[in-house]
Amino acid sequence: TLATLSDARSELHRIFGFSEFRGRQEDVVERVLAGQSTLAVMPTGAGKSLTYQLPAAMLPGTCVVISPLIALMHDQLRSARANGIRAATLTSADADWRETLDAFRCGNLDLLYVAPERASQPGFRDLLSTASLSLFAIDEAHCVSEWGHDFRPDYRRLRGLMDDFPDVPRLALTATADRQTRADILAQLAIPEDGLVLAGFDRPNIRYAIRPRDNPVQQLARLMAEEAGPGIVYAPTRRKVEELADKLGAATGRPVLPYHAGLDAEVRAANQHAFVASEDMVIVATVAFGMGIDKPDVRFVAHVGVPKSIEGYYQETGRAGRDGDPARAVMYWGAGDFARARMRLEEVEEARRQSERERLDALAALVETPGCRRALLLRHFGESPPNACGNCDNCLDPPQVSDATELARKLLSA
Ligand code: ADP
Ligand code: MG
Repeated sequence: TLATLSDARSELHRIFGFSEFRGRQEDVVERVLAGQSTLAVMPTGAGKSLTYQLPAAMLPGTCVVISPLIALMHDQLRSARANGIRAATLTSADADWRETLDAFRCGNLDLLYVAPERASQPGFRDLLSTASLSLFAIDEAHCVSEWGHDFRPDYRRLRGLMDDFPDVPRLALTATADRQTRADILAQLAIPEDGLVLAGFDRPNIRYAIRPRDNPVQQLARLMAEEAGPGIVYAPTRRKVEELADKLGAATGRPVLPYHAGLDAEVRAANQHAFVASEDMVIVATVAFGMGIDKPDVRFVAHVGVPKSIEGYYQETGRAGRDGDPARAVMYWGAGDFARARMRLEEVEEARRQSERERLDALAALVETPGCRRALLLRHFGESPPNACGNCDNCLDPPQVSDATELARKLLSA
């Protein structure tokens, strides 16, 4: 018998203890239960995992989950198992491959997490054909698109694998995909256009502000004086990360730790752990920090320098205020940031240069606008928001025309 939506509601309660679906989870679950391939675009924290975990627990056969990071997989594994879902990972960090493979072959596994590199190996296809599958779930699906901000070539090979199992529906999940990236994901993964479920991108509890940078240590220290809770400061280089972490710690007396890919793995893990456990720590980091970190009470995210794109900005600032309480996103930019980014464009291969330039222009428009920041952000993601949100710098303190002209001049000369 087919699983239905009313079964899903009772299972939602029984397995996860939740009384209701959130946002558009229900639409996604309904499609998956009906065997329809789907692309779910929902903001970080919306609860995307549940949209494949719940059907995986309800449907016969195993749901294969493609996930880009071992750390992410192990977090998911822990939380799925805590809910009594039969889940396993196949990574180099696992010692229980034999048990996992046995459970899979006997049909005793709801979820099997693998990295795209493993999924694209021929042996994996052979393995999958030894048992029955319920679903392919492709997490962080923007990695399949060159338009996305995090292209991973191995994601391109998933299509070939999935095409060998034509009866198994596909569910692609991502938090950040503009119109072009969405179209590309649908095409690359052969998901029909009417399979798109797009949830709201607005994060009304985040107050956005974008300011020229003069003295970043002073500016950040002021922000930290206003916000006593945990915060993330994104800086452009490892050197800047180290320098800012030192100076901010000294200037504010608050716990401040650095995080970047140049630190030893143990130091990185220890700093991340300390941050997640802390109620007042600030972590200064490169963009290497953040993916998969579950810390609901981050009170501010600051950018020193400009992010790479509006997608990146949205994803990074989206780590603030996941608990729904007021939080802030403040960017401190300088004209030189854009000048450097435009110079880097010259080194980008011809084929991508135009789209990279458009990304940068979109970001410049966000920085430059005298209008509502949130409205511009949401329009970028294809929504039609009201013209003023009342909770960004430009709505709260409308810029004088002369300020705006001055900004425009700075940007043009950059
Ligand atoms: P995403 O992958 O979209 O960023 P997650 O799947 O990690 O989000 O879920 C974020 C949080 O939301 C988790 O703590 C999860 O337990 C919670 N959550 C998911 N669905 C619901 C729901 N229907 N009701 C309440 N909490 C939910
Ligand atoms: Mg997720």
